[in-house]
Amino acid sequence: IKKAGRNGIRRFDAALDAELERTILLTREFQFALSRDQLSLVYQPIYDLKTGEMSKIEALVRWSHPEFGAISPGVFIPIAETSGQIMAVGRWVLEQACFQARHWRENHGWAGKITVNVSPVQFAQPTFVDEVKQTLLLSGLPAHRLELELTEGAVIHSPTLVQTALRGLQRLGVEIAIDDFGTGYSSLAYLRDLPIGCIKIDRSFIEDLASPRRAPQYAVALITAIVGIARTLDLQVVAEGVETQEQVDAVRGLGCDFAQGYFFARPLDAARLEALLDSGQPD
Ligand code: C2E
Ligand code: CA
Ligand code: CA
Ligand code: CA
Repeated sequence: IKKAGRNGIRRFDAALDAELERTILLTREFQFALSRDQLSLVYQPIYDLKTGEMSKIEALVRWSHPEFGAISPGVFIPIAETSGQIMAVGRWVLEQACFQARHWRENHGWAGKITVNVSPVQFAQPTFVDEVKQTLLLSGLPAHRLELELTEGAVIHSPTLVQTALRGLQRLGVEIAIDDFGTGYSSLAYLRDLPIGCIKIDRSFIEDLASPRRAPQYAVALITAIVGIARTLDLQVVAEGVETQEQVDAVRGLGCDFAQGYFFARPLDAARLEALLDSGQPD
C-alpha cells in the first residue's frame, strides 16, 4: 500500500510538472503571438428570438501556433492576463472588431452591434475608457454599435474604479453586457446601480434545460427568475450556448430576447460570417 501511495504521489507530481512546463512554454510562446500574426478573430451571431434578425455578433479571439496548433482562449487568456500581454491583445481585439463591424455596415448592410469580451485586467486600467474612445474614432464605428462583455467578478471586484469606467463608457454611448450571468457573485445591487444594458445567461443553465440527469425544472425556474429580474430592471437577456431546437423553444418561451449557440452558428471566420450576412447561409 505504501509503495502504491508513493507511486501515486510521483505520478501526481509528474502530471503537475508537465502542466507547469506547458504553461511556461505557452507563456513564452504567447509573447510572439501578436507580432507573428498568430492571433485572429472569429465571430458568432446572436439572434433576436422574436424577429430572427442577427442583432449582434460576438468577437472571439483565436491563437494558432505553428507547432501546437489551435490553443483555446480558455488557456491563453489567463496566461495573457498574468503576463500583462492582455493589454496589447485586448487593444488589438477591440480594434479588429470595430473595423470589421464598420466594414460589415458599408459592404454587407449589417448595422447590428459587435460585442467584445473585456478582461477585468484591462478594465482596471484608468486609461481604458480613453482607449475605447480612440478606437471608436479611429475605426469610425458609432459607439452604440459596440457592446463590451464583462463578467460579474470584474464588476464586483473593484467597485469604484469599475463604476467610474462604466459611467465613462455610458457617456460615450457604449453598451455593457454581463457575461456568464448567474455563475459569479450573487449581488444583484450592481445590476440596479450600474449602467448595464444586457445580461447573458450562462451556458450551464441552458445546458440543464435539456439534461435528463439534472432536473430541468430547476433550470426553468432559474431562467424565469433571471428574466424576471431583467424585466424589472429593463435589461436585455441573451441565452448562451443554445444547441438544440428544444432549447430555442424553451428560452423563447421563458422570455429571453436573444439567443447564441451552435444551433444557430458556430464562431465563424470573417469570410464565412460575410457569406452568412449576404445569403443567410454560411459558406
Ligand atoms: P465566453 O465569452 O462565454 O464565450 C462563449 C464561448 O462558448 C466561446 O468559446 C464559444 O465558442 C462557446 N460556444 C458558443 N456557442 C456554444 C454552444 O452552443 N455550445 C458550446 N458548448 N459552446 C459554445 P471560446 O471561443 O473558446 O471562448 C472561451 C472564453 O474565452 C470566452 O467565453 C471568453 O471568456 C474568453 N475569450 C474569448 N475571446 C476573448 C477575448 O477576445 N478577450 C477576452 N478577454 N476573453 C476572451
Ligand atoms: Ca462573452
Ligand atoms: Ca459567456
Ligand atoms: Ca465564459
